[in-house]
Amino acid sequence: MAVKNILVVEDEKPIREMIAFGLRRAGFEVREVADTRSARSEVVNRRPDLMLVDWMLPDMSGLEFTRQTKRDPNLRDLPIIMLTARAEESDKVVGLEGGADDYVTKPFAPRELVARINAVLRRVDPQVEGSVITFEGLSLDPISHRVTADRQPVTLGPTEYRMLEFFMNHPDRVYSREQLLDRIWGGNVYVEERTIDVHVRRLRKALEEFGYDRFVQTVRGAGYRFSIKSE
Ligand code: CA
Repeated sequence: MAVKNILVVEDEKPIREMIAFGLRRAGFEVREVADTRSARSEVVNRRPDLMLVDWMLPDMSGLEFTRQTKRDPNLRDLPIIMLTARAEESDKVVGLEGGADDYVTKPFAPRELVARINAVLRRVDPQVEGSVITFEGLSLDPISHRVTADRQPVTLGPTEYRMLEFFMNHPDRVYSREQLLDRIWGGNVYVEERTIDVHVRRLRKALEEFGYDRFVQTVRGAGYRFSIKSE
């Protein structure tokens, strides 16, 4: 797989350098710019595989820049992840309505950002789509549908597999039961919300002997989250 090129658009130098450092270490090629004007010329110069765009930029808001980019027929399919310091839900929704493919709220761990970038790249690039997803010793191969834990095969039912695949593609985020139903079963199927709990329990049981059941976390009053960080 070719090395992916990421363009980081962030005016705060320490944050930009921290991001660039983390991405380079994860094997990405990284270019850095501090405003949308330079971002535009970099994109024309050589199209990146993905752009990370900060919300607050000196010459234009990252949101407006994202909107403009997504309106350009030549750039519409260039994936964009927005970085935002604002944690409010409404801002996130606005970010996605502006056309961003995903958003990450500051502060974030470099590996969280890398996971999000890989998830977005997998969605847009069929070659990346086939790549194995790994968290610590837990691996999922989306082509063969094989799951292994510390190189041992893990046997999962079809629903638990889909659930794990969804979780591994969307780490470090809380999903309500309703959202999980929607994303894993699809909106048209009538399934009771407590059915989710049953499948989560089965998934955890399958991962338990390897200790990876700890990745499937209950967030009280909110839903579930897949994370390798403990709460
Ligand atoms: Ca900024």
